[in-house]
Amino acid sequence: MIVTVASGKGGTGKTTVAVNLALSIMADQQDLTGQEPGHPVREKSVNPAHPLFLDCDVEEPNAALFLHPTIQERREVGLMIPQVDLEKCDYCGRCAEVCQYHAIAVVGENVLVFPELCHGCGSCTLNCHTGAISEVLHVIGNIERGEARGITFAQGTMNVGEPMAVPIIHQLKQWVIPPETGNRLVILDASPGTACPVVESMRGADFVLMVTEPTPFGLHDLRLAVEVARDELGLPVGVVINRDGVGDKGVDEYCAAEDIPILMRIPLDRRIAEAYSDGETLVEVLPEYREQFRELYERIEKATAIPVL
Ligand code: SF4
Ligand code: SF4
Repeated sequence: MIVTVASGKGGTGKTTVAVNLALSIMADQQDLTGQEPGHPVREKSVNPAHPLFLDCDVEEPNAALFLHPTIQERREVGLMIPQVDLEKCDYCGRCAEVCQYHAIAVVGENVLVFPELCHGCGSCTLNCHTGAISEVLHVIGNIERGEARGITFAQGTMNVGEPMAVPIIHQLKQWVIPPETGNRLVILDASPGTACPVVESMRGADFVLMVTEPTPFGLHDLRLAVEVARDELGLPVGVVINRDGVGDKGVDEYCAAEDIPILMRIPLDRRIAEAYSDGETLVEVLPEYREQFRELYERIEKATAIPVL
């Protein structure tokens, strides 16, 4: 089961929820196998396979600060962009005409390519009647995978100055998510907002978990995120209210009116903020949250009707 953890607004605790959900499911495995004696043994694992965690916030990945993964593999990610041989070019301008992104321009007897605008679509190459255009790899970032406390961990990182996150997220997903996930929990930690990188992180998910805070700003951005996930992509959504109690009842009323389940509430608690700023996880500092995150997972399973084997 693929769960994308998203939030319309930055700073709502999205990564906190994603990381602690993964750790709680993993802890459940360790309880069962006796690797971590002293914790109560559940009769049945909530997720028989070890979780897979993808940090898709490629502009600013930060889940590794909490999970401390050991990186085992790394790949560069790039786009094939045009390279023009001016010896073969007759400056007809066709390449510039077909480029939807204004990434190539014919200026007098020169052809300029703007790599940061190029989407690597190949139209200019296909439409060049003299064969003057070849393609070269333009590296825009990297993807990595490894292991973190039994969790399979992966993250993408976009190079500074590059504008396109979507190809990195797309290749990260293709690289690490198996074609059939079954009931293995795959958690994608999306970037904040509702732009193309978030849509790419949601695409193919079984469920989108929205993390919000009960404030007018939180509600405003939650509405936008729900419009993308539920109304445009047709995905089931649920909400986690973080810092519950700080604001008003707007998020509760909106969720009730829209029939969106509130699956978990995390109260405003100074200890949680301190743990975050110290790079510690919620379930380490307050172990009672493990059970709450397991229950969150079980509620997601019920909402998606994917059976536990
Ligand atoms: S389409 Fe080919 S020949 Fe025409 S301007 Fe572009 S690179 Fe030159
Ligand atoms: S590959 Fe596509 S986006 Fe890039 S310059 Fe050519 S036509 Fe434009």
